[in-house]
Formats: sequence, structure tokens, C-alpha cells
Amino acid sequence: MKPLHRIVPPSITMSLDRQAKELVASGKDVINLTAGQVDLPMPDAAKEAVRVALEADRTGYVPAAGSADVIGAVRNRMGWRNGNILISAGAKPLLSAAVACIAGPGDEVLVPTPCYTSYPEMIRLAGAVSVPVAGDPENRFAVSREALEAVVSDRTKALLFNNPVNPTGTVYRSDELQKIVDFCVEHDLYLIADEVYGTFVYDEPFVSLYSFPDVRDRLILVNSASKAFAMAGLRLGYAVMPDAVAGAVSAYLSHMLGCPCSLSERAAMAALEEDARFCFDLREVFRKRRDVLFPLIAAIPGAKIEKSAGAFYLWLDIRNTGMDDTAFCRALLDREGVALTPGSAFLCPGFVRLAYTQPEPVLTEASMRLRRFFV
Ligand code: PLP
Repeated sequence: MKPLHRIVPPSITMSLDRQAKELVASGKDVINLTAGQVDLPMPDAAKEAVRVALEADRTGYVPAAGSADVIGAVRNRMGWRNGNILISAGAKPLLSAAVACIAGPGDEVLVPTPCYTSYPEMIRLAGAVSVPVAGDPENRFAVSREALEAVVSDRTKALLFNNPVNPTGTVYRSDELQKIVDFCVEHDLYLIADEVYGTFVYDEPFVSLYSFPDVRDRLILVNSASKAFAMAGLRLGYAVMPDAVAGAVSAYLSHMLGCPCSLSERAAMAALEEDARFCFDLREVFRKRRDVLFPLIAAIPGAKIEKSAGAFYLWLDIRNTGMDDTAFCRALLDREGVALTPGSAFLCPGFVRLAYTQPEPVLTEASMRLRRFFV
């Protein structure tokens, strides 16, 4: 048999989550803090909308770029007054398609690290080169302008930027975002930005890159219903971008995916049209969880951790344990039955990610097990 042209490594985070779930299914007492998804139900209105759509046999193709009423609901809810809006099967295809339409062989895309596991693969699949840019460990792992300047070159086409950040939970401040914007404008780069955790910001109001007019003509801003409306499995994302990019991305997705799922569109439409209460309540659930879990872990002798301001992750520095991050996660799972994600999965060894996507009592129990492991 002729060899495959492409071997794609699996998503490490997804396979770890599957491993932890298999252990739970086999009867093992495992607390799974690897899952990057909301563990609560989606809005009732969204459930009802799917029932109604199913009853009405709304199961045909919808327009490749998404139905007009859904695009209108996204425009209203997100406040994306200008720019072309596309709907697709989650944030991931929109990000991948944007990368593939912007960058190819010979091009480089900058990726601040630690980063979401799929970014480097998306860039590699496009045939371009992913250039990791280490975030500043002394400043919440936020990437600095200096670090970006040190690696930008004539080959650089885009910056793939995430805020709030998976895996650190870092939220960029307005002045830091301005520097990112200036950098992209001055070097004539596209800014592909992923704000899927934008509704999970706890200490200050979230500042979206959409609010920087200077960058709009080069901004591909991606968001989705996965986290905001607890609909990860329904696969529904939305993005706003300049016309020329939208034409290419929309055609790319039409060949690859066809169109968004007709039922998921109805669910998202109902959720987007509801008031902001659902997202507000969800954020409060996660804020409380963070405020329960963080002090418990910070109080463990030897545990080095900072309070993060967004998403649903805490980022634990384990460099002082004498173990590498993978060995740490393996030993913690074996000895205490707590599953975490090693930082290597996010291009940042020496750290581990805790997802507080479990109810408070489970998080408290996890912190007790972690304490036993450390002391
Ligand atoms: N972007 C980031 C930063 C994520 O953490 C995730 C999922 O964990 C995604 C995108 C995927 O979003 P979606 O489910 O909308 O494809």
C-alpha cells in the first residue's frame, strides 16, 4: 500500500479527556479536570428551537455562509455592525479555514504560547509554518510586543491570537490589546483572533478586539456558541471579517463542510436572541468555582499558582516538583485519581492545566487529593 501523504497527530487534550472518561466508565474513582467544556445544559429556548425545527422538518441544506436570520442575530448580539459574518460548524473550522486562506507554503504564522492545542496543527495543515512566541511568565504569560518583534519577518502573514487564553485563563487588558493591534498594523499582518471565552471574564469587563477600529480591515474575529451557550456538541460558530477574506473563507468552507447544521443554527439563533441572562448566570457559576478552587490550591505547600481572570482554567507551575508535566499528570492520575492536562499539550512544559468544569464539591475533593499528592 502506498503511504499516506499526511499523518495528523490527534488532539492531545481530546485524547486525555477520552482516557479519563474511559477510566471513569471502567469504575475507577477519577476526577476529570481535563475537559474544556461547560458541564451545564444549554438554554431552554435553544432546546425548544431544535424540537420545533425538527417537527417542521428543517433538515435540508442551509446557505453555505449561514442563514440570513442567524447572521442577523449574531450581528445584533455581538455588536458586529460592520464586516462580513460567516456561520460554520464551530470556531475551529472558521479558524482553520481563515488560516488556510491566508497562509500557505513559505508563509509563517505567529502563535503566542502557551496556546490552544489545535493552532499549530491548523497552520501546519495549511502548509505554512507555525512560529511559537513565548508569553511572559512574569506577566500572566501575556505575549509582549518585544517578543513578537523578535520573530516577525518578511514571511510572517498573520498572528493567531487567543483572548481569554486557553490554557492559562489570562485576559488581556485594553492597553495590551492596543499593542497587539499596533504590531499587526505596522507589520501589515492579518490578526486572526479567537474570543470563544469572551463571556467567561470575571474581574473586569471583557474588551473585544472588535472595539479597535484600526485593525478591522485585517481582523478575522472568531467566536462560537460552544462555550457561551453550552452547545459544544452542536458545532456552531460565527466570525466577522473583511469582505475579501470572507469570500475566500466562505468558499473554502462550502467545499469542505457544505453548510452549518440546520438544527444547530436554530438552537444558536434562539440562544443569541435571548437576553444576556444565560451568559451572565453561567459566568457567575464559573466565577464561584474559580473562587472556591483557587485559594484551596494556592494554600497547598509547594503549589505555585496565580489566580486567572478568565476562561475556565487555572495554570499550575510544577517546575519545582522534580517531575516533568507529563510524568506529573500520570502520577497524579495513578496515585490520586485526578486527571489534569500537561502544559506540553499547549507548547509549555513545566505547567499543568486544571479545568474547573465540574461542580464545586468535586473541585474541593480534587484540591484535597492534590494536597495529598504534594505534601
Ligand atoms: N478555541 C479555543 C481557544 C478553545 O479552547 C476551543 C475549545 O476548547 C475552541 C476554540 C473550539 O471551539 P469550537 O467548539 O467552537 O470549535
